[in-house]
Amino acid sequence: MPTVPAPLQPAYDVVVVGSGGGAMTAAALAAKAGLSTLVLERTALVGGTSAYSGGACWLPGSAVQQRAGLPDSTEGARAYLAAVLDDPDPERVEAFLQHAPELVAALEADELMELEWIPFSEYYDAPGRVPMGRSIQPTSIRRDQLDPGVMALLRPPVERDRAGAAGRSTLSGGQALIGRLAAMVVRDGGTLATEHHVVDVRREAGRVTAVVVDTPTGPVEVGATRGVIVGAGGYEGSQELRALHGTPGSAEWTMAPRGTNTGDVIEACAKAGAATDYSGEGWFCPGLAHPDGSGTFTLGFRGGLMVDQTGRRYGNECLPYDRFGRIMAEAPERIPSWFVFDNREGGRLPAIAMPEGDPADHLAAGTWVTADTVADLARAIDVDPAVLTATVERFNGFAESGVDEDFGRGEDEYDTFFAGGTGPNKALTPIDQAPYVAARFVLSDLGTKGGLVTDEAGRVQDAATGRPIPGLYATSNSVASVFGSRYPAPGAPLGAAMVFASLAVRDLLAE
Ligand SMILES: Cc1cc2nc3c(=O)[nH]c(=O)nc-3n(C[C@H](O)[C@H](O)[C@H](O)COP(=O)(O)OP(=O)(O)OC[C@H]3O[C@@H](n4cnc5c(N)ncnc54)[C@H](O)[C@@H]3O)c2cc1C
Repeated sequence: MPTVPAPLQPAYDVVVVGSGGGAMTAAALAAKAGLSTLVLERTALVGGTSAYSGGACWLPGSAVQQRAGLPDSTEGARAYLAAVLDDPDPERVEAFLQHAPELVAALEADELMELEWIPFSEYYDAPGRVPMGRSIQPTSIRRDQLDPGVMALLRPPVERDRAGAAGRSTLSGGQALIGRLAAMVVRDGGTLATEHHVVDVRREAGRVTAVVVDTPTGPVEVGATRGVIVGAGGYEGSQELRALHGTPGSAEWTMAPRGTNTGDVIEACAKAGAATDYSGEGWFCPGLAHPDGSGTFTLGFRGGLMVDQTGRRYGNECLPYDRFGRIMAEAPERIPSWFVFDNREGGRLPAIAMPEGDPADHLAAGTWVTADTVADLARAIDVDPAVLTATVERFNGFAESGVDEDFGRGEDEYDTFFAGGTGPNKALTPIDQAPYVAARFVLSDLGTKGGLVTDEAGRVQDAATGRPIPGLYATSNSVASVFGSRYPAPGAPLGAAMVFASLAVRDLLAE
């Protein structure tokens, strides 16, 4: 039976659905508070997209930023969010801001958790922005320092899971986050049950009391005496729900692990009376197209330029990925796009793609094409050679002058965070060394962020009454995001997921 450490009991104080950053935070804090805690995960591995992630957490105003000497504070973060968010829910935003430092303190009080600042520029030039960012991450840890049973269940990093890269003996980023939290859960008597797929939610006399689970040995019902906490991703893996809610991109191009996050728990909760708010929103990004039809999260463009199917640029390629993804989504001729680069990096993509894949495989499959001149490259991707040649020449002129007159590339701190150009503008490097390459790009995402409607304590709202449903909490990408359509800073998805997980546990303990 794929459970750590024991077979299932008929009921637990807390049943957590899913095993990403929010879910695992909830489980770790509940188990630590002495509640019997069960984590139900539909796949054979724990961690979901969170285990693929960089593990950056946007948790402003904490002791970690203070230790790093950053000009960060809850007030500064409040000003930043006030400037950045488009339609904020003030109560949830304030709950996030107030609780983030408390959560960090609670996590750091545990010997299994250690956090540090990670320099990573914030995504908007707005009041309250901290230069080089205020995101934090769990420190790296060797696998052999954590429970081996837990390690056997940890979803590997994305480049291993998707592209078969070699394993690592040290956990970093999202691996360290999930590994550390899962080890806390098990140490404190919690149970991790993989291949346990929650298919329904039971509600009796208004209260959510149990979940129905498909297991390798058949369906079971598991009771939750204090509450069910849902942290089971969004609906990014369901093409049907994406189409229904007008979410751009596709289930094929999302970064969620295969076969996960189909929104079924959100739907089950809705069937049990929960309110939903499907905004069609996601955490978007440009996605490098792969021969198998997938698209992989790409950021940190150091060179090259992106053109639409007419051979024209349409945005600042160095924008934060979610902002560039949204520009891609604005016009059909931008999906797919072509990313044009030269041979300065020996035929490798001048960007960070997770994963990039082997250029030879891309060239064989036609997801990349190469040519000795820009005009020939244009012909190979079915674009007017005169248009693409003019685009590249104009861009090379910008590289020489240091000013992108069309899209301002290189003007913001984020633009130059990854760039290492040697010209007058670090983010503008000429494209002039043959052979040239065009790589196909689609619209990918790190998850959707519409779903269950929750309040400032992570309580799921009843669609009929607008009041909290007793015994039902939700967080992570299973809920309509506290940040609405914005991706304010690195670590926003995990930071919000973890804060509302913690608030849910606090509420459940107070009940
Ligand atoms: C390469 C990469 C880097 C990233 N870096 C960062 C970063 O540094 N910081 C940041 O904040 N965000 C980052 N993100 C985004 C972030 O990882 C995700 O948006 C976030 O982790 C999603 O968390 P989640 O808990 O909603 O979903 P997940 O982490 O995907 O977890 C959901 C889990 O629930 C399980 N599940 C789903 N349905 C059921 C069911 N019915 N029953 C039981 N289990 C179920 C799934 O199998 C899955 O394991 C990154 C993403 C990628 C791909």
